[in-house]
Amino acid sequence: MSIAVDPTFLPELRRFGAFDVNACFNCGNCTAVCPLSTGNDSFPRKMIRYAQIGERDHLLAHKELWLCYYCGECSDTCPRQAEPGEFMAAARRYAIASYEPTGISYMLYTSKLFTTLFMVVLSTFFAVLLLMGHGPLLEGAPHLFAMDETKGFLSFELIHDTGLILFVVAGLAALGGIVRMTLRLTSAVTRTKPAEREEGARTVGFFARIFFAVRNVIAELAAQKRYRDCEEEPKLPWYRGRWFVHMSIMWGFIGLGVATGLDYLLMLVADKVPGQPDPLWWPTRLLGTVAGLLMMYGVSLALVQRYRKPNKYASHSLLSDWLFLWLLWIAGLTGFVLEVALYLPTMSAWGYVVFLVHVVVAMEVIVLLPFTKFAHSIYRPLALLVHEFCRAAAD
Ligand code: SF4
Ligand code: SF4
Repeated sequence: MSIAVDPTFLPELRRFGAFDVNACFNCGNCTAVCPLSTGNDSFPRKMIRYAQIGERDHLLAHKELWLCYYCGECSDTCPRQAEPGEFMAAARRYAIASYEPTGISYMLYTSKLFTTLFMVVLSTFFAVLLLMGHGPLLEGAPHLFAMDETKGFLSFELIHDTGLILFVVAGLAALGGIVRMTLRLTSAVTRTKPAEREEGARTVGFFARIFFAVRNVIAELAAQKRYRDCEEEPKLPWYRGRWFVHMSIMWGFIGLGVATGLDYLLMLVADKVPGQPDPLWWPTRLLGTVAGLLMMYGVSLALVQRYRKPNKYASHSLLSDWLFLWLLWIAGLTGFVLEVALYLPTMSAWGYVVFLVHVVVAMEVIVLLPFTKFAHSIYRPLALLVHEFCRAAAD
């Protein structure tokens, strides 16, 4: 296979992070100290080499890009201050922008002006759309949702239908990215080590390899073991450490999604009225509150650490990285303020405003899922799946 060497690649890649791999003289120290790099999955030096000689396609086709969790150990020990850890983070941002088919992700990562305009347009559009179907602001018992045309603030049907459309749009963008990444990864896998693969294929069947890979990836995602193995320096107390912060955001987000889904199911099968205050012990409410607190804790700490920069991994953030964290934080905060508003004896105008902001931000979060840092939750598991599949063959 011919390799397309592209001299414009490295300058382009620099737009996605602060590193200087021109200074790298390929000593290999970064690969030696990396706690996650192994003989078969050698990084970051190999990835840096691809960037240095402009092998854009090669870089994007290697799962090793996603096996790094940015502990920063390689950057701390690099004799040339080439920032290999930040290079890997930048290359992942570039990969997200390259896999995603619409080009929105690329613009969000590289243009502050585009990001600002995009968010202003999105916020205005959702707010106007929702307010077009709104009903009266009622003092007294809360009426957040208009279930018919006479009472309630925002049209339940409009929120429901818009949410569905947004999920489909985000899902299609994610699917496009998954297909493009899969094609690249599989082309790299079929190119490498045919002898090893044939030998593995004889000893471990295809479906057994799939089974092992799926099982291992699920276990990895649930406990984030690789993340824990990738410890940052200086080491922080466990409750402020990167692993716990990441787990809090991830499980908080999942818990909120499950609570919302269950609430919707109850509405369908048990005629539950949406937007009414449930008792504190109500299971979906309990789950939503615990998950919301967990997510708020994780996101707040992640934001503080990005401001304070205690570690390498928090030392450089693009606007797009900030954006998603801030949206999650605002969605969480408005969610809790709304709960307070619901339990007050009378509903005031500010409660309705908070509700509007909450719904608008929640919609923005859905839209941005495949276009921002959050997209790593799609691409990393896919890379891990290929990684475990290859490992099952080689073991
Ligand atoms: S990035 Fe630094 S440690 Fe890694 S090979 Fe280059 S010079 Fe050596
Ligand atoms: S940042 Fe950590 S995991 Fe990533 S390549 Fe460097 S040492 Fe390895």
